[in-house]
Amino acid sequence: MLDLHRLAEAIRYEGGLSRRLWLACTATLAALPTLASRAAGPVTTRPALVGDPFTLGVASGDPEAHSVVLWTRLAPRPLDPDGGMKPEFVSVTWELAQDQQFKKMVQTGKSIAGPALGHSVHVEVKGLKPDSRYFYRFRVGEAVSPVGQTRTLPAADSSPDQLRLAFASCQHYESGFYTAYEEMAKHELDLVFHLGDYIYEGAGRGRGGVRKHAGPKLKTLSDYRVRHAQYRSDPALQAMHAKCPWFVTWDDHEVENNYANDISERPGVDPVAFLQLRANAYQAYYEAMPLRARSMPRGPDMLLYRKARFGRLAEFFVLDTRQYRTDQPNGDGLKDLNDAALDPKNTILGRQQRGWLQAGLLQSSATWNVLAQQVMMAMVNISIKGLTGSGYVMDQWPGYAFERMELMRWLAERKIANPIVLTGDIHSNWVNELRVDDRKQDTPVVAVEFVGTSITSGGNGSANPFYVPLLQRTNPFVKFHNTERGYVRCEVTAKTWRSDYVGVVDVLKPGGKVEVRKSFVVEAGQAGVKLA
Ligand code: FE
Ligand code: CA
Repeated sequence: MLDLHRLAEAIRYEGGLSRRLWLACTATLAALPTLASRAAGPVTTRPALVGDPFTLGVASGDPEAHSVVLWTRLAPRPLDPDGGMKPEFVSVTWELAQDQQFKKMVQTGKSIAGPALGHSVHVEVKGLKPDSRYFYRFRVGEAVSPVGQTRTLPAADSSPDQLRLAFASCQHYESGFYTAYEEMAKHELDLVFHLGDYIYEGAGRGRGGVRKHAGPKLKTLSDYRVRHAQYRSDPALQAMHAKCPWFVTWDDHEVENNYANDISERPGVDPVAFLQLRANAYQAYYEAMPLRARSMPRGPDMLLYRKARFGRLAEFFVLDTRQYRTDQPNGDGLKDLNDAALDPKNTILGRQQRGWLQAGLLQSSATWNVLAQQVMMAMVNISIKGLTGSGYVMDQWPGYAFERMELMRWLAERKIANPIVLTGDIHSNWVNELRVDDRKQDTPVVAVEFVGTSITSGGNGSANPFYVPLLQRTNPFVKFHNTERGYVRCEVTAKTWRSDYVGVVDVLKPGGKVEVRKSFVVEAGQAGVKLA
């Protein structure tokens, strides 16, 4: 009999490979459902529905040059554990057309929604034209879904004139309204990147928030399903999903605050018990998102890191810095960059993902090489007299400083073209110049990091925090910082990368004022970032 805890310990320091743990733990984790995307029983084309099955809207995601994922989930009662669906298999028709009236039909097909995957539908449409816009919808019996718009990516060897994207993160439902998404939907965007904290796992607060989470702190698969359904019921979020394809990745709150691989922040939690929770969370995430079949979870494992190529203009590496990381050194809080933080054993990517990333960067011939990821990469020393302690946030890349500095050194040595890092998690805006060691201001800039604030998490913030000059005195590589809510919109050409920081003044009531606060530009071939 294997000692599961010793094994878990060993694997943790491999930086991932929890598949081995998974294989070894099948006895313990036998209660986990086996996912079936095919029907294992009769399929009905006319289910008896208790209401509109399309309350969660539609979405598309993970586009490639010839293919895109179309998504919906049947849930006539979104806050019921089963979404209001009977445990039966339902035939869902999908339609993809060139026009909004569906007169110029491109492809149609049927998919089966079943109880094992919460009646979610993930269609990978293939054989499409590159760089093309499409409309899509679903049908079940008499019910017709809202219409979504999507697009394919430009052909790999093409040279697109421009790319317009937005990135967002941290949309705590109780903390405010999704005004940022309402404003985002007014722009013609090619892509949206969601960098994590799509849901939060806490119980309904009842007071202190402007809206209330349904249900307890998330634990079971149906808890996580209901939470995703509640968030996706928001009309602004739903409308933005219907507007263009998204690339999504998670951070911690899709499972639990500050978890690392199989380790809970709560003391004394058995890693095997934690993996059970993680399996529930990952499955509900897969069901709720427009992801490809390659991301279908296997127990507590789910492949979420992947790349996408927008012609020769940009190559995107969507990272997963939660599933394979070693435990935060020194605990999760603010600590010195001491030996524990600098230990070469620490990894935030895990060996496999790091190898995949480096191989992909070496193959890339794109003008811009973009890491779309979760936690701040800049080595910011948070030291503001009388306001904070001094130190670095160990849940972010500084907790994994050895790997971070090696990655920067490697980017510089291999002359990877124009590296850009997009970041979420921290509920504030930052523009940072990244060096091998950010404490050495007289060394060359290797990359530029745009950190986008939260959609709602943290409630209202400040456009102009008083402490910024003090912060910049310690950290001169920080070019911009504020604590407002909002998102970041980017316009990318072969010459420049422009990031507009969009601020939402008030998220505590609907319709808050929205303003572009500051815009920054990186010029291709030149190190560093400038005010636009
Ligand atoms: Fe967050
Ligand atoms: Ca986070």
